[in-house]
Amino acid sequence: MPKPHVLIVGAGLGGLTLAQVLRKQGVSFEIFERDPSETSRTQGWSLSIHAVLADLVASVPDDMPPFRESVSALHPIKLEDQVVFYIDGERFGATDSSERPFVRANRQRLRSWLATNIDVQWGKHLNKVEQSDDKVTLFFQDGSSASGDVLIGADGTNSVVRENILGKSNKDILKYIPISTITAESIILTGEAFARQLEVAHSFTFVNIDADRIIVQGIVRSLPATSETEAGGEFHWILMWRDPLMQHVERSPVDALSAAQRLEIARSMTKSLPEPLTHLLRHTRPEHVRPHGWAVRDAVIDALPLSRATLLGDAAHPTSPFRGEGAVNAIRDAMNLGAALADLSRRHEAGTQAVRDALAEYQAEMVPRGVNVVSGARAQFGFFRNEFQKVRIMGHPPEKLQWEKVEVGSEGVKVTPLEG
Ligand SMILES: Cc1cc2nc3c(=O)[nH]c(=O)nc-3n(C[C@H](O)[C@H](O)[C@H](O)COP(=O)(O)OP(=O)(O)OC[C@H]3O[C@@H](n4cnc5c(N)ncnc54)[C@H](O)[C@@H]3O)c2cc1C
Repeated sequence: MPKPHVLIVGAGLGGLTLAQVLRKQGVSFEIFERDPSETSRTQGWSLSIHAVLADLVASVPDDMPPFRESVSALHPIKLEDQVVFYIDGERFGATDSSERPFVRANRQRLRSWLATNIDVQWGKHLNKVEQSDDKVTLFFQDGSSASGDVLIGADGTNSVVRENILGKSNKDILKYIPISTITAESIILTGEAFARQLEVAHSFTFVNIDADRIIVQGIVRSLPATSETEAGGEFHWILMWRDPLMQHVERSPVDALSAAQRLEIARSMTKSLPEPLTHLLRHTRPEHVRPHGWAVRDAVIDALPLSRATLLGDAAHPTSPFRGEGAVNAIRDAMNLGAALADLSRRHEAGTQAVRDALAEYQAEMVPRGVNVVSGARAQFGFFRNEFQKVRIMGHPPEKLQWEKVEVGSEGVKVTPLEG
């Protein structure tokens, strides 16, 4: 087997990006994922990919389908991606442009795109890692094992590889953020109702209700017009509020209520908002409300010991999503690590010192960047209370946006900016 042979645990956004970079560079690797198949688990909502866009497309092999059309939540509806923040009744945000390009990606589509021509070993749930001086061995729940020269833990927030590297359990590493949530998904809007929601934001919106409450709303995928139905989209929302109790319990007490009761609470918490911003809630039914909210956890990991194993993405810097930078940083990690491993491969090096040197260089840049990602996201939630001027959207201060009139017809979607 060519040296080094790299083992990647986790076929999420970071692990698959690394797999593509290694494929392009001809580095020997295997990738293991606990999900039984690519589509066995819904991949959730959508997310903004920015900052790394051009580098990502340049780092993957040429046989990949076109990026934007393959992953965009809005595609095939022709509309610019747009993220909007409503602050004190004013409209701020960002629109995709050549100066600051971004894509609001459907997670399932992004994962499928990243999995192109990658031989993922599905149904491989990592249980245990053993490191010796000259190799790393993985043991999976199904009784199988695999050995290699370098191990990359791309196994997300609850990383088993991180527990092995740090010698600590995730219970002692991860911290609950003091936030409770109610979430709803699979809300279908078509025609006129779709147009009203696009006037709120084409892709995603962040609405500050008051100092302690926020609601986000976003499109998950567009539904093109058919001979029977008008064009539309599938949407989700997450209502979040400050709740110090959540630092001490795993489930919010609100989860014990029925879906209808939680929807009522969400409507009541948002009733002070102007009409367009409650449009999606009025189209929400109890069956759209998820069985339980989502507990937000993070951890500041400011040092990683050197060995034959390292981490990337949420395994390395598990973060709350308030700055929308977790995936972007997972992709950045994967590209940097891919370059370091390709260099080892060109030198046919898999000796202990060479591997440690390569990982040391990667970690020296990744660890402090990860600390900034986690603390920046924590701070951003606080800025919505009273320091809006410090809010950042994809790394930049939000710009003032015009209000819009949106029409959905058989020819597609027409947007007219409104004066004032
Ligand atoms: C609501 C929300 C909105 C977000 N919005 C944005 C955004 O707009 N922009 C942005 O950049 N980021 C965003 N993020 C963050 C982003 O989703 C994560 O940072 C990103 O998915 C991390 O990628 P990853 O590959 O490290 O982990 P993951 O994508 O979580 O992948 C980890 C993979 O490892 C697998 N795995 C786990 N344990 C094992 C095991 N023991 N054995 C084998 N496989 C295992 C999992 O099944 C999974 O497939 C958001 C997050 C949330 C929750």
